[in-house]
Amino acid sequence: MSNYDPVEVTPLHADELARMRDDALDAIKAARDLDELKQVRLAHAGDRSPIALANREIGALPPAARADAGKRIGGARKAVAEALAERQAQLEAERDERVLVEETVDVTLPWDRAPRGARHPLTTLQERVADAFVAMGYEVAEGPELEGEWFNFDALNISPDHPARSEHDTFFVESVESGKVLRTQTSPVQIRALLGRSLPVYVVSPGKVFRTDELDATHTPVFHQVEGLAIDEGLTMAHLKGTLDRFAEVMFGEGITTRFRPNYFPFTEPSAEMDLKCFVCRGASATPGNPPCRTCKSEGWIEWGGCGMVNPRVLVACGVDPARYSGFAFGMGIERTLMFRHNVEDMRDMVEGDVRFTLPFGMEV
Ligand SMILES: [Zn+2]
Repeated sequence: MSNYDPVEVTPLHADELARMRDDALDAIKAARDLDELKQVRLAHAGDRSPIALANREIGALPPAARADAGKRIGGARKAVAEALAERQAQLEAERDERVLVEETVDVTLPWDRAPRGARHPLTTLQERVADAFVAMGYEVAEGPELEGEWFNFDALNISPDHPARSEHDTFFVESVESGKVLRTQTSPVQIRALLGRSLPVYVVSPGKVFRTDELDATHTPVFHQVEGLAIDEGLTMAHLKGTLDRFAEVMFGEGITTRFRPNYFPFTEPSAEMDLKCFVCRGASATPGNPPCRTCKSEGWIEWGGCGMVNPRVLVACGVDPARYSGFAFGMGIERTLMFRHNVEDMRDMVEGDVRFTLPFGMEV
């Protein structure tokens, strides 16, 4: 510095420049975010920053001193520019990381503009039926929907020339000779339960069944049944009646019982139609003079299903000794139950998937 002209310019003093540089470096280090760093850049590296202003003073120096001063300013500017770039990269990385955390989409959060889904009332009713029997010690059994003809008919005492066989409007899969059908009833699960379990057997089997019906207000080609089977030593029709009465109470309330009317099914003997005492008028509408009842059409009773003592031929087909074991079976339609239980008048409502139908059943899951 000895060769400096006496007219030295203060901002170009080495100490002064070092101070400007250090001020700038301190400010850069202290910038907490990109906005603050932008301000620091303007203040310490912008056109009006002390270093930039000092740079302008170079012209006032004697020519001999300019190179030296220029080198010092260049060094200070370089240090500041490097520190800015480094801090910029640091702050950008911090911001990116924060954005990743803050803007994470939690896909498990409820989104109140999307209505909550629910299970179909047929499903929940089917499970409620199964629960009623599970509470009585039954086991839930399931079988295939694509069933062998032997399971669906023969083992249930419905031989190929049996009239009941043609009454079941059966969907055959592939050719009629294939022996594969879409099950027309849940009863084949009885056969599978007897073949696959050791006695005694208490099973309930809800599920889909198929018939070649057109879809209309009272028919659907796919519907649901629930089937029950109990095989044990010493079971009688009284056990059947007691079981179904208990089931009726669980589903429809205290005092709602069942009654049997003689009927015929190939797989039970004796067989009965089972009626449910009307749970709305409790049978009162059947007495003349009382107000009419829509649910039972003033009959006092509602047809609910079929039942009976398992035909010994079915037991034999499953390798069960009918001299030692007896039992009962029953079945009812889930759609039909849903219809009278909830005043559903058109079966098509149950299969069309319109949420306006399912909403009134509540968002039960
Ligand atoms: Zn009634």
